[in-house]
Amino acid sequence: MALKKESNSLDSEQEKFQNEDASLLELKNLENKKEIESQPLEVSKGNDNENGFLDFGFNQSILNSLRNKGYKNPTPIQKAAIPELMLGRDLLGQAQTGTGKTAAFALPLIEKLADNKELNAKVLVMTPTRELATQVAESFKSYSSESSNFKTVAIYGGTDYRNQISALKRKIDVVVGTPGRIMDHIRQGTFKIKDINCLVLDEADEMLNMGFLEDIEWIIDQLPENKQMVLFSATMPSEIRNIAKKYLNDPAEILIKSVKKETQLISQKYLYVQRHHKLDALKRILELNNEGVIIFVRTKLLTTSIAEALENSGHTVAVLNGDIPQNQRENTVDRLKKGFIDILVATDVAARGLDVERIKLVVNYDFPFDKETYTHRIGRTGRAGRSGEAILFVNQREKHFLRNLENSTRTKIEEINIPSNKIINKKKDGETYREC
Ligand code: AMP
Repeated sequence: MALKKESNSLDSEQEKFQNEDASLLELKNLENKKEIESQPLEVSKGNDNENGFLDFGFNQSILNSLRNKGYKNPTPIQKAAIPELMLGRDLLGQAQTGTGKTAAFALPLIEKLADNKELNAKVLVMTPTRELATQVAESFKSYSSESSNFKTVAIYGGTDYRNQISALKRKIDVVVGTPGRIMDHIRQGTFKIKDINCLVLDEADEMLNMGFLEDIEWIIDQLPENKQMVLFSATMPSEIRNIAKKYLNDPAEILIKSVKKETQLISQKYLYVQRHHKLDALKRILELNNEGVIIFVRTKLLTTSIAEALENSGHTVAVLNGDIPQNQRENTVDRLKKGFIDILVATDVAARGLDVERIKLVVNYDFPFDKETYTHRIGRTGRAGRSGEAILFVNQREKHFLRNLENSTRTKIEEINIPSNKIINKKKDGETYREC
């Protein structure tokens, strides 16, 4: 039964968390280790002449694209990782999304590729999901937007092979993709890997959770032996340390201890509500905040029924689930970013890696399956140093899981009530909403 599974899962999560702590201790004892207390990502508001990226020795095209993006100072992970990667070292990094880790590996790799004359790709980045693959590919594209003739291609499942095959035939610098589809292309001979001299494993723990270990090992075995390797993971369970030991060569190690601080930007709350009152509670919450909201539910069916109910209440809503074709999903995310959609009702897999700065509220309509899922869900808000709010719906039977979740994330989740008519009316009258 799903609930039983959840209980076991949360208990074992706690064990896993303790193991992670042990692994951190072990990592701290290794040589070359840089451990950094990081503040959540803050976009610098320094003066216009300031440029903290000058010291890395990047070429002018990269500096220009950083200027276009408005980046003035590197984040702690960028400060620590970029010099090591510029030297060509392997790197093992423990960092969450939201710390600026994508630019930390993308910028030095673009710099290295500045004069790539090969037809075949030189850098391969593997990510657990197509959403993250798209996002990482977009980052490479924007950081290289001023570099002439630089090409990044994303390849992932759920989309047609033909476009990917023709993209892989042209001159190409970086391939970003999910393990299954990368494997297919290598097997079919449509992805020529002989010139790959750098491999990045992004969100390695997620890839393992999704059962990609064998595929990843198969792919690594096909790649040229002499290559730079970068492994980023939010957590360091023993399987990840084993991969690092097996494949990384004397890596620089960076631990960004920002997990607590990042989630501190997100105010975490729970609401005690019985199953048959959930939709009403949701509608009331949306009366107070309906701009930039993600609602997480457990099934595809629920995404559509809730979206319909909210649409009938006058909200602009879209759904994101595994049945929605990839191009439509991308279109939905784009519309959410631009503010044409205010509310997204999503399943977990569909919303992984989603990076939309305007998300102010995450509603856990259905209780998350485990600690990692909860952390990923709430991490969709509080992006790029902004604050956000996360509300978790809890019923009588789930109260026990709530305590486990609080223990394993070491966070106190504050109880709130379903907003009353009085509070909703006050908000409608333009008064500031205060928690009841
Ligand atoms: P990531 O951790 O790679 O998912 O990045 C989180 C967000 O921070 C993304 O929206 C990036 O565009 C943004 N970002 C990364 N580095 C910087 C920087 N140095 N200055 C400002 N924003 C940044």
